[in-house]
Amino acid sequence: MSKVPFITLNNGVRMPQLGFGVWQVPDDEAAETVSAALEAGYRSIDTAAIYGNEKGTGQALARSGVAREELFVTTKLWNSDHGYDAALRAFDASLARLGLDYVDLYLIHWPMPAAGTFVETWQALEKIYAEGRARAVGLSNFHPGHIQRLLSETSVRPAVDQVELHPRLQQSELRAFNARHGIATEAWSPLGQGRGLLDDPVIGRIAAKHGRSPAQTVLRWHLQLGHMAIPKSSTPSRIRENIDVFDFELDADDLAAFAGLDTGDRLGPDPETFSVA
Ligand code: NAD
Repeated sequence: MSKVPFITLNNGVRMPQLGFGVWQVPDDEAAETVSAALEAGYRSIDTAAIYGNEKGTGQALARSGVAREELFVTTKLWNSDHGYDAALRAFDASLARLGLDYVDLYLIHWPMPAAGTFVETWQALEKIYAEGRARAVGLSNFHPGHIQRLLSETSVRPAVDQVELHPRLQQSELRAFNARHGIATEAWSPLGQGRGLLDDPVIGRIAAKHGRSPAQTVLRWHLQLGHMAIPKSSTPSRIRENIDVFDFELDADDLAAFAGLDTGDRLGPDPETFSVA
């Protein structure tokens, strides 16, 4: 039985704090990879229309035998589908590919502020939420300015903001803003995509002290900061390793050492300018 704790979202829906991300998993491998994650105990699965693997992900969910209400499925609306009607159509297509009649969380993938479309796009997500076809709706890559605009012009408060967040990009101000507004922060690329970050000597030292791997140590840091994280791996042993993080605790010295790793450097695009459709 999984020991993953839940975060209660601002509408009362409970979301597992640790989930499994499937970016860059090809559709024909997604069924096998997601099955491995479900076997290892993950219940929260993070996909997106643009990942092209909603179908394979849905197949793994269907054949898992895990009750639907124990699963937490997130997918995201891609940039080319901003706009009220386009968003409604895109959501229907995602649901069909997943083979589900509702998702647990539906996110606007990027704000594309220059396009000026995220408010009407959000209004489509409000409708989807009102219809019960998404148990919660939220955002990805939104900054406080974008969220502020939604809060003042629309009525459903976003439940989640999924952003790039790892020890080199700790997002302290954004996390504090989200906390003040009852929005749960979720970390994408929580392992800094593996390269570089997991070889950091400070992380290596803390990992050795606890007798755990660097990846486990970084995931523990996320959990102790209190936000959600969705590490990805296609390797079954690493999939299991990444959820085996509930029987050790970082101490104040470890957390202080982690705080010193924040360079503010992004691995992904800048949400203020990213607009690839
Ligand atoms: P990640 O930080 O989860 O790193 C994944 C990589 O780390 C793996 O490919 C592997 O190379 C390595 N790795 C994983 N486990 C390891 C272990 N135990 N030991 C050593 N190396 C290990 O990176 P990610 O895939 O970019 O992010 C995770 C998820 O976040 C994605 O799959 C996706 O679901 C989501 N995401 C969302 C957005 C967004 O814009 N909303 C953007 C990027 C990613």
